[in-house]
Amino acid sequence: MKQVDAIVLGLGGMGSSALAAFASRGMEVLGLDQEPAPHARGSSHGGSRIIRRAYFEHPDYVPLLRASFEGWRRLERASGLKCLHRTGVLLVGSSRSPILEASRSSAAAHDVPVELFDPDRMRARFPQFSSDRGWSGLFEPGGGFIDPEAGVRAHLELARRAGASIRRPVKVVSIDGDDQEAVVGTDQGELRTSRLVVAAGAWTASLLGDHLRVPLFPQRKAMIWFEPTDPRACSSDEMPAWLIDDGEPAGCYYGVPTWPGQPLPGGVKVGFHGPGSVVDPDATHEITPEVIERFTADLARRLPGVLKRPLAAQACLYTMSPDEHFVIDRLPGRGSMVVVAGFSGHGYKFAPVVGEIAADLAIDGATPRPAAFLNLDRFDEERPH
Ligand SMILES: Cc1cc2nc3c(=O)[nH]c(=O)nc-3n(C[C@H](O)[C@H](O)[C@H](O)COP(=O)(O)OP(=O)(O)OC[C@H]3O[C@@H](n4cnc5c(N)ncnc54)[C@H](O)[C@@H]3O)c2cc1C
Repeated sequence: MKQVDAIVLGLGGMGSSALAAFASRGMEVLGLDQEPAPHARGSSHGGSRIIRRAYFEHPDYVPLLRASFEGWRRLERASGLKCLHRTGVLLVGSSRSPILEASRSSAAAHDVPVELFDPDRMRARFPQFSSDRGWSGLFEPGGGFIDPEAGVRAHLELARRAGASIRRPVKVVSIDGDDQEAVVGTDQGELRTSRLVVAAGAWTASLLGDHLRVPLFPQRKAMIWFEPTDPRACSSDEMPAWLIDDGEPAGCYYGVPTWPGQPLPGGVKVGFHGPGSVVDPDATHEITPEVIERFTADLARRLPGVLKRPLAAQACLYTMSPDEHFVIDRLPGRGSMVVVAGFSGHGYKFAPVVGEIAADLAIDGATPRPAAFLNLDRFDEERPH
């Protein structure tokens, strides 16, 4: 096969966006994925991903989030597909919740409009949440959720329209290269290019091996859909996307309301963002009855009487980096390769800007976006902090 300007390995949330970014710059680009079509074995499925700018993970993400919001709007206009649902996002917790506190300071530092709710106002405005716990709230009206399946479809469609080639299923089995050229071994032969973006999600660490220099840890997470007791109270008209930081257990339950056009079986989607154990991404990922029972019991205490019964459950993979921040960089000593990985359970909302940054790094060796805090050298032991 003729050598192309760039190859994108992995066509999930990040790779589909990188493919569109290369193609929109007039480059001859080839996208590869091991699955025949967008699928539910990686990290970019399940109907919704929360998007917010009052960012407790670190305020440095906020400028990238602004760019992402613009990116989602541009993508919707260009593709005609609805991706962004503005339901607002409500963070719930005690007045000492570290997540509420960090979100409030991120919002203040970057002028993100938020509204604070004391326990009395919380009870009145958001009666779905347990009123006997004295919870406060931080509401970001501009937030909401993204439909990840629509996002991947839209990016792939724009990439195709701009001339990108896609080959799937193709399994990449090896990656090597230097500053000039990357060599991609696949189950259908070898490909060479001067620019390779590795966006292989939970498979990234095993594919890159020692080239990456930092470990990444795939984890399995549950997404469970619940039938609401009162459908209106849990619809996107009445319920924002939400996250509860009550410190027990370590981690947070979060949820997304029902919405018009939601795929079957519908229902309020709930997940848990917290510690997990490392899994093999190639294993069969199922959600056990014990996990569904635990969710059901924990949520009955947090949203009493709101969720009637579980309707469906599905697994999804996180790829944790050691500090839970993204890894976006050219590989040291192998400048033909760019990695975008380690999204640590909070990356999807950034997909439009991550694709642009990946293309910047691969084409120019640098990006004008303020993303240096996500470079690999933060893990260098000798680096002064
Ligand atoms: C339950 C859950 C909830 C989440 N909630 C949120 C949220 O609310 N907000 C948010 O912003 N983010 C959230 N995230 C995180 C977000 O979804 C991920 O960060 C994002 O989807 C990662 O996309 P990706 O492109 O890196 O991975 P993927 O979408 O998994 O794409 C990787 C692709 O690479 C392909 N691939 C891998 N290896 C090979 C190979 N050897 N050869 C060929 N192809 C290969 C795979 O088939 C796959 O298609 C959540 C994640 C999960 C699991």
